[in-house]
Parts: sequence; structure tokens; C-alpha cells
Amino acid sequence: MIRPLALLSSLVFSWCAGCRPASAAQPATAASQAAGGDPIKVLVVGGRGHDWNGFYKTIDPVLRKTGDFQLTLTANLDDLKSASLENYKVVLFYGSGGDFGDPTQEAGLDQFVRGGGGMAGVHATDAFKQSDVYWRLLGGRFITHSGGQFWLRIDDHNHPVTAGMRDFEIQDETYTSQYHPDFKLHSLGHIDRGSEQQSMVWTQDYGKGRVFNTTLGHDGAAWTNPNFQRLLARGLYWAAGREPREIPAAKAQ
Ligand SMILES: [Zn+2]
Repeated sequence: MIRPLALLSSLVFSWCAGCRPASAAQPATAASQAAGGDPIKVLVVGGRGHDWNGFYKTIDPVLRKTGDFQLTLTANLDDLKSASLENYKVVLFYGSGGDFGDPTQEAGLDQFVRGGGGMAGVHATDAFKQSDVYWRLLGGRFITHSGGQFWLRIDDHNHPVTAGMRDFEIQDETYTSQYHPDFKLHSLGHIDRGSEQQSMVWTQDYGKGRVFNTTLGHDGAAWTNPNFQRLLARGLYWAAGREPREIPAAKAQ
């Protein structure tokens, strides 16, 4: 009776041992090994107003430098349905416009964040304006904007996202927001230009999940700003429940 069992356990062992090279075929990068974490899978939701493809193409290689992020771009809102989001840590909305065509899309998103998922909004408060769920998740909804060069002042130097960050200048649009009645603003940064003093970076806890939002990010002038990139990376780490890390500097030629 012992022999068949031994044979079986040996077979199971060989099968499992055989599995290992398959998973080792996708080795973690040095950076993610150093961080000791799994890749942070981010679903980037575009497909509406603004150059969402340009945003993705600019930001994806920057975030990949950390070795921690894996971005997937979609324009299909059915990807928000519960089962589809199971593989992701964070859902990042970029750009304006749009409407949920199916209640299970916004319900899937709501359940994902309530259950402990991360959400990030980038220049995305002027979107899904028929949806109270989306407004509540992001906390603010676009009212109007101007644009140009301005200072972004850091409001919270103790929050993990903005700890160690300094005020910075940026060329961008200057969205103002109407806050959802259920939302309590925790501002991480605001525009400081004359009468324009509104928050443009904030976070909120939502159920067991976390939402990072910035109204910054109109076009390439913002996306290529190193401080915007740093803020975004730190916000995504935080939304994923991870300690924010820096984007490695490009190596000198
Ligand atoms: Zn814009």
C-alpha cells in the first residue's frame, strides 16, 4: 500500500516541480523583487474625450521603469464588470465624457473599490456625469476650467502620496470641482494662482478601497512633467495599498 502512495506523491512532486520553470519564465524584475511585491496591475480606462491613447503611451513606459506596474489599456466599459476586475489592483480613469451603458458596469466598479480595490482618476472628473456612483467614487465633478502655467502647492506633507514632494510648476488646465454630498475633501495639493485656489489632488477611503484623484493631466505638457509623473506613480502605489516608491532616474548615456 505504501508504494502506490509514494509513487503518487512523487508524481505530484514532479508535476509541481515541472510547473516551476513555467512561472519562472516570467521573472520579476530586479525592482519588483527588491520591493518584495507582486506586479501592480492597472486597468487604464480610456475611449472617451481627450487623447487617452497618448496619455497611455506616455505614462506606460514611465511607470514600467519602477518594475512594479503592469498597465492594460481598454476602451470597453464591460471590463468594469465584477469578474473582469478580479485580476487588477487599480482601475485608472483618464479623460472626459462617456456614460455607463449598462448598470452592471458602474456596479462592478463600485463593488471592486468597496471590496478593497484601488481607483485613480486623472483629468477624469468631467466624465460619466449621469452617474452618481462615479461622482461619489471620485469625490468631485468638473464645473469649469481655465489653463496655463501655475504652481501646485502640496497641502499634506505627511500623506504617503505627497510625503517628500515639493510645490511644483505645471502647464495644464485648471479644473474646478463640485464635491459629492457624501465626500469629505482631503486635499493633497491645490492650484495657487490668484483667485484660483481649488484642490487639484485628493484622496479618499471608500469602503475597504482607496481612491486617488487628480484633476491635472490635460495633455502632453502635463504628462511629461516629472512632478506630475511622480505624483501619479505615488498615487497609484497608494491606491494599490503599497508604500509609494520613486521612479528610477534615467541612466546617463
Ligand atoms: Zn482637458
